[in-house]
Amino acid sequence: MFDQLSASFEDAVKGLRGQATISDTNVDNALRQVRRALLEADVSLSVVKKFIEEVRRKAIGTEVVRGIKPDQKFIQVVYEQLVKLMGTENTPLIRNNGKPTVILMAGLQGAGKTTASAKLALYLKSQGAKVLMVAADIYRPAAIDQLHVLGKQIDVEVFSISKDVQPEEIAAASIQKGCEEGFDCIIIDTAGRLQIDTAMMEEMVRIKSAVSPDEILLVVDSMIGQEAAEITRTFHEQVGITGAILTKLDGDARGGAALSIRKVSGAPIKFIGVGEKVEALQPFHPERMASRILGMGDVLTLVEKAQKEVELADVEQMQKKLQEASFDFSDFLQQMRLIKSMGSLGGLMKMIPGMNKIDSTMIKQGEAQLKRIEAMIGSMTPQERQNPELLASQPRRRGRIAQGSGHTQNEVDKMLVDFQKMRGFMQQMTRGNNLGNPLSMGN
Ligand code: GDP
Repeated sequence: MFDQLSASFEDAVKGLRGQATISDTNVDNALRQVRRALLEADVSLSVVKKFIEEVRRKAIGTEVVRGIKPDQKFIQVVYEQLVKLMGTENTPLIRNNGKPTVILMAGLQGAGKTTASAKLALYLKSQGAKVLMVAADIYRPAAIDQLHVLGKQIDVEVFSISKDVQPEEIAAASIQKGCEEGFDCIIIDTAGRLQIDTAMMEEMVRIKSAVSPDEILLVVDSMIGQEAAEITRTFHEQVGITGAILTKLDGDARGGAALSIRKVSGAPIKFIGVGEKVEALQPFHPERMASRILGMGDVLTLVEKAQKEVELADVEQMQKKLQEASFDFSDFLQQMRLIKSMGSLGGLMKMIPGMNKIDSTMIKQGEAQLKRIEAMIGSMTPQERQNPELLASQPRRRGRIAQGSGHTQNEVDKMLVDFQKMRGFMQQMTRGNNLGNPLSMGN
């Protein structure tokens, strides 16, 4: 179904081809497709309406600049607008102001609040913080046990009293303990309900005034669809949220909730949950979510096509990186995408000094190999992409990448060795010494 969606999206913007500018009349059909894509991705209707109007305003009158066609420009506007709306400068959670940073977790039952509390605790602990988790859900004894079990698993202390003590008193007592014992961060897991109800909201407000939290993070299940907007609105109006965690994105939810949450509350999505395990938490990346919402892959390629001109200028910068040996896997991936958007590897190779004599078999082999490498890079974390040396020193990471990309560890090991060789090789070549053929990588 999503393939079909992307195809019709591309079809729709074709109507903009050959136009000098994007105008009120020629943009309508394309906007209808965007609207459909967003609704399909579970963005709430009122948010979709506002978004479409903003895109219309932004897109109309856009001129054809430097060879970028209006249809490509339009897609770029949609994508950038989505990123901009969801984007945020990610401020660190821990305040480091001499007292514990207090994080209150809010959300409906089943959203993944308790799991998210433990995930966040582990995340902050791995950054060196001393974290305390607090069980303030007195209605479900199982919730208290669940937090203790998770706490044990990640070696983070859990504070609880008993179900006969009011949540706000438990929370207040935890702050005192946190201050006395030098904790950097206190994460308070509160009670949820299956639906929004007054008692739950009042309880949240009481806890809030008892502990004056630095952050109130709303945990939202991404599978909940359009309802995310209403839940966010209620929590925001009645309690006030400072951010959100969007869970269960390892499923097939398209992530439209991210846009709704942001639009309705103005609060940024800070993390996403991508699995049941305590490690399955990632900082939020607006670009990735924009791709997901638009059902991309394909759409992203269209954006990249539009940016081709700009990227060509980047080749120069890339060569500089090569000379300085700071060329990493992200750069490599960017290069590969550029190659794809240009249609052939030969195109790029010809731009490298001394590389104009390559035969077509070599190019074909190179292209097949690049595909395999792209899959491997796709399985790397951003940190690993930026720092190939991490992989060199930690075989466990290479094992994970092998599994994730459908290769053997030997293949990944070899790719890494080849990448390092190639980097050295290209470095020499950009300095003007033509020593052979870098496409032999992996062959
Ligand atoms: P709470 O009632 O809000 O505290 O929700 P829980 O933390 O107990 O989570 C409810 C269920 O969702 C549990 O079965 C969790 O394992 C599961 N869960 C939570 N976060 C995620 C996630 O990011 N991905 C997946 N697949 N499951 C999750």
